[in-house]
Amino acid sequence: MDFAAEINQFSVKISWKCGVNQSSPRNLVPKPFEYHMLNMAIVYTVPEMFSMDYDLIVVGAGPAGSITATVVAQAGYRVLVLERDFSCRSPCAGYLSSTINLELPESCIIQSKIRKMRTYLPDLSFHDSQLNGFVVDRPSFDAALARVAKDAGAYIKWGSPLIDLVPGGVRFRGGKASASVIVGADGVSSRVVSLLGWERQRTLSCAQYHLKGVDLLREACEIFFDADYAPGGYVWVYPTGEESAKVGLGILGDEGDTGGGGGLRSPREYLDAFISESFMAERFCGERIEYVRGFLPVGGLRRELCRGNLLLVGDSAGMADPITGAGINNALLAGKIAGRTIIDALENDDVAMLERYEREVKRLLGRPLARSLEKRKKMDRYCTANESLQRHLPELWVTFREYWR
Ligand SMILES: Cc1cc2nc3c(=O)[nH]c(=O)nc-3n(C[C@H](O)[C@H](O)[C@H](O)COP(=O)(O)OP(=O)(O)OC[C@H]3O[C@@H](n4cnc5c(N)ncnc54)[C@H](O)[C@@H]3O)c2cc1C
Repeated sequence: MDFAAEINQFSVKISWKCGVNQSSPRNLVPKPFEYHMLNMAIVYTVPEMFSMDYDLIVVGAGPAGSITATVVAQAGYRVLVLERDFSCRSPCAGYLSSTINLELPESCIIQSKIRKMRTYLPDLSFHDSQLNGFVVDRPSFDAALARVAKDAGAYIKWGSPLIDLVPGGVRFRGGKASASVIVGADGVSSRVVSLLGWERQRTLSCAQYHLKGVDLLREACEIFFDADYAPGGYVWVYPTGEESAKVGLGILGDEGDTGGGGGLRSPREYLDAFISESFMAERFCGERIEYVRGFLPVGGLRRELCRGNLLLVGDSAGMADPITGAGINNALLAGKIAGRTIIDALENDDVAMLERYEREVKRLLGRPLARSLEKRKKMDRYCTANESLQRHLPELWVTFREYWR
């Protein structure tokens, strides 16, 4: 980091601590000259220092957390983001619909454009539908969003997993911090949710390879439904170049409790079987350049998204679609709503106003996610055998007209 950047980084943190005017946070943003003077005095005497008292603590620097932090920090409030890992590395195919209401940071790597989705039924007949989206390199996408949050003034503390919720704040590895509002944006296996004692979400267990040297359709993603290779879920192929793609799948249930599939158990075993033994093996038996695994929440939107001064945003709140598993767009949308609601609550010094977040999210996402959850329940019933999957798929998958009736 160069000297100027270092000065700037410290100045934001330190001026918040020193120029404390709690009742009017916008006044905390100092003038450039003040930055300079303040830092010349302090930087060399206090090597590692940041305020432990914040307006907002966000747990998790995924899309939901970073966007929430950006909105609130841009309004001049003091925001701490606690991130468990030392870098962004959420497992993901990285498909984003073009309806995403976000100016992508330049440093975010777009790997391919997608104009079509080809959906294969178990008998290998297929159905094409138009699509308008793109595939991003997920770690660089998340890192770019985190950088935007940091540039807005949020302090991101990497390698700092949340340990506990304590009165007025949180305890994390290496310290404690207090804040008026806390946001749980810590994903599908949310620590915040388990500390609240709320139910764990139902998940699809996923595995994904990034493959090189594969045979792809042009500007198209492919989705395969087959109870033998992806019971309860599906196989996806998202191109990242002319001959490279992220090929992954999700299966119902935690690893180990999935029946069927000729004795296969883990999602990786199912994926290996798909790319080496299936009818598509010739197309997808390329070089494996990366392997990731993860979980998709399929339990639908949580009933409670807000309690006291605490909000849940993104996967921790069950905002991913229970049928497709897509969750980035909703995480970003909800993060923006959370950010604006938090600003209102802070400005009015009234955490009761946070309840508006739940109402607004339910107004926008409640119906589509409830419909998808209904479909999920049917999918559970029909997914175990290819015969029933073949018959019912049109009413269960989003690209068929029957799904929307
Ligand atoms: C294999 C796979 C493929 C997917 N493909 C797509 C896709 O193509 N398109 C799409 O829209 N969605 C996809 N999803 C879903 C998508 O990844 C999620 O919906 C999205 O990441 C939700 O964002 P989030 O910010 O809520 O959570 P996350 O992105 O999971 O971010 C949570 C953050 O919290 C951090 N964290 C966790 N615990 C703690 C703790 N105790 N303390 C501090 N920090 C913590 C994590 O390290 C992480 O950085 C996929 C998911 C999987 C598993």
